[in-house]
Amino acid sequence: MDTKKEEKSVIEISKNLLVGLKTTISTFFRKPVTVQYPRERLQIAERFRGFPKLNTNQDKSLRCVACILCQTVCPSEAIKIVIGYVDYGAEYELTERQKMNHSLDKLEKGIYNDGRRHPFSFEIDMLRCICCGYCEEICPEEAISMSDKYELAVYTRDEAVYGIEKLIKL
Ligand code: SF4
Ligand code: SF4
Repeated sequence: MDTKKEEKSVIEISKNLLVGLKTTISTFFRKPVTVQYPRERLQIAERFRGFPKLNTNQDKSLRCVACILCQTVCPSEAIKIVIGYVDYGAEYELTERQKMNHSLDKLEKGIYNDGRRHPFSFEIDMLRCICCGYCEEICPEEAISMSDKYELAVYTRDEAVYGIEKLIKL
């Protein structure tokens, strides 16, 4: 290697070294951008979309009327609903209008209901869910909405399938 070339490469290396050192020194005194997760957490944006959750009325009853729209629109087929009716018990007095409801005819004997559909079971597979928010958008009852929860740590795939109880608590 000739001397001129050698000198040039030494100058290049020193220049790069100085640029690197400048970056190191300038960031050394700055506040770190990393956080000690999970002890520390970053502030979530106001409109952040986490996993979907089920909403309830004031009397803690489910808002969902099992219309199946969310299940139909879900692009990842994460929602599985089984339609059912809430049994209010024999003491429940149906109004005249409720008695006219033909859907009551389809109920099994001994089930007392107002004729409105409710989910017998409502499951969301969180491993499939892509948090797109379509289910929230399509729901006519505001029964499902996006929570701010985004963590999912499970040992088996079955544990990632959330039923009604878990979905209410999200
Ligand atoms: S957020 Fe999207 S992917 Fe998740 S359950 Fe709702 S529609 Fe399906
Ligand atoms: S959550 Fe909403 S869209 Fe989904 S079945 Fe219930 S009422 Fe229909």
